[in-house]
Amino acid sequence: GNGCASPGPTLLFVKTSRAEEQGRRFYACSACRDRKDCSFFQWEDEKVSEARLAAREEYNRNHQPSFTHRQNAERLKNFILLPLSQRKFCQDCQQLLLPAEWQEHSGHQFQCDISTAQLKTPSQLLYPLENKKTNAQYLFADRSCQFLLDLIIALGFRRVLSVGTPRLHEMIQSKASQDKDFSVRSLLLDIDFRYSQFYTEDEFCHYNMFNHYFFGGEAAQETCQQFLYQDTGERVIMVTDPPFGGLVEALASSFKKLMTMWRETEKEGDNNQEMPMFWIFPYFFESRILEFFPSFSMMDYQVDYDNHALYKHGKTGRRQSPVRIFTNITPRRVVLPIEEGYRFCTICQRYVSSGNQHCEICNSCTSKDGRRWKHCALCNKCVKPSWIHCDKCNCCALQDHSCERTDAGCFVCGKAGHKRSTCPRLSLA
Ligand code: SAH
Ligand code: ZN
Ligand code: ZN
Ligand code: ZN
Ligand code: ZN
Repeated sequence: GNGCASPGPTLLFVKTSRAEEQGRRFYACSACRDRKDCSFFQWEDEKVSEARLAAREEYNRNHQPSFTHRQNAERLKNFILLPLSQRKFCQDCQQLLLPAEWQEHSGHQFQCDISTAQLKTPSQLLYPLENKKTNAQYLFADRSCQFLLDLIIALGFRRVLSVGTPRLHEMIQSKASQDKDFSVRSLLLDIDFRYSQFYTEDEFCHYNMFNHYFFGGEAAQETCQQFLYQDTGERVIMVTDPPFGGLVEALASSFKKLMTMWRETEKEGDNNQEMPMFWIFPYFFESRILEFFPSFSMMDYQVDYDNHALYKHGKTGRRQSPVRIFTNITPRRVVLPIEEGYRFCTICQRYVSSGNQHCEICNSCTSKDGRRWKHCALCNKCVKPSWIHCDKCNCCALQDHSCERTDAGCFVCGKAGHKRSTCPRLSLA
C-alpha cells in the first residue's frame, strides 16, 4: 500500500446528514478521504480507545514501505551493477529485487531482464494505481506528454516542478540522460512511494498535494526549495495533474504554498510575480479553479491518457477528453498544434479547438468541450449543442432532464442541480 502513511497529517471534514442541522465533523487521512480506503477515520468529538490506538499503530507499522528512500537509492546503484540476467522486478510487491531477496519473493510474479531503459521509464514498469476516488493514476499519452514538454521548452522554461506527473518527469529525465545538450531538469513530487526506487532524493520527493506534506521532512522541503531557486535563464514552471477526485480547495491551498516557496527563493527583480503553472484538470472545474486562481485561464488543448478509455484522443473515434490545461501564462503564448485542428482566434487572443466558434454576442469562443456551442438568448450565454431552453427550470438543460431542483450542491463539485451520483465528472454527457 501507499498513500496512507499515517501519522501524516489529517484533514478535518464535515459530514452532513439530512436529519442533522449541523454536520458532524470528522478527521480523515487527507490522502484517502474515502473511509473504505483507510483505517484512519475519527469523529472530532470521539474518544479513541487504547486498543484502537494500538491497532492503528500496528496497521501503520505494517503499511510502512519496506525501505526508506535513501535505502532505495542505494539499492538502485547496486541493481544497475547487476548483469541483465539478474535484474528482476517483483510485480506482486512492485519492487526491484537484489539477488539475496529472490528467496523471500518465491512464488511471486517476476519481470526479468530489466534494462537500463526500463529503469528510466518506471511508469511503464509499475502498474497504474486504480483506487478511483483518491489515487487513480492516469498516465499521459505520449502525444500529450511530448506536447507539454515542447510547449514548456518553447516558453523558455528549463526547470519543471512535476507535481503528480511522473510520466512528464520521466520523459525529461530520460532525455537529459541521453542528450547532453538537453538542459531541462525536473523534480517529481508524488504520493506514490514506489517511485523512490528509481530516483534519488534530488529527483523525487514523497509528497501529499492535498495537504502540502513532505514525508521526507525538512530535508525534502529544502530539496524542493533549492530546486525552485531560479538562476537567470533557468526559469521554473510547475506542472500538476492531480487525481480528479481531489478537493479543489485542498489542492489550491497546497499549490499556493508551493508558489510561496517559489516566491521566497531569491530572484532577480520580479518579486510580485506568480510561479508559472500548468494545472491539468477537467474543464467542468473551471469556475472552481478560477475562484482560487483568478489569474488563470483554461486552454482548449485536450489532454489524452494511455490508460483511460474515455479520455483518449477524439480523432481515434473515441470520446473527446474533458481534461484541459489551466495556466497563469498569457493565453496567446500557449501555442496549440495547428495540425491537430487548433486555430488562433485573433479576437480572443488565444488558440481554440477547431469546433470552437467565436460567438458575436458573448464576444468569445465559448465552447468548453470542443463541440460547437449555440447561443441561447434567454440564458444570455452559449450552451452545449445538445441542450434546449427549459421554461420550468429557466435555463438550458438536456431535453430529458428532470425539472426537480436540488437545493444542496453536489457533494463532489459543489454545483447545484445534481447529486454526487450524477456528477458530470463521472458521466460526461
Ligand atoms: N498524467 C500524469 C499522472 C496523473 S495521475 C502523468 O502521466 O505523469 C495522478 C498522479 O498524482 C499520480 O502519479 C498519483 O500517484 C499522484 N497523486 C495522487 N494523489 C496524490 C497526493 N495526495 N499527493 C501527491 N500526489 C498524488
Ligand atoms: Zn474567439
Ligand atoms: Zn454566445
Ligand atoms: Zn437557455
Ligand atoms: Zn457534481
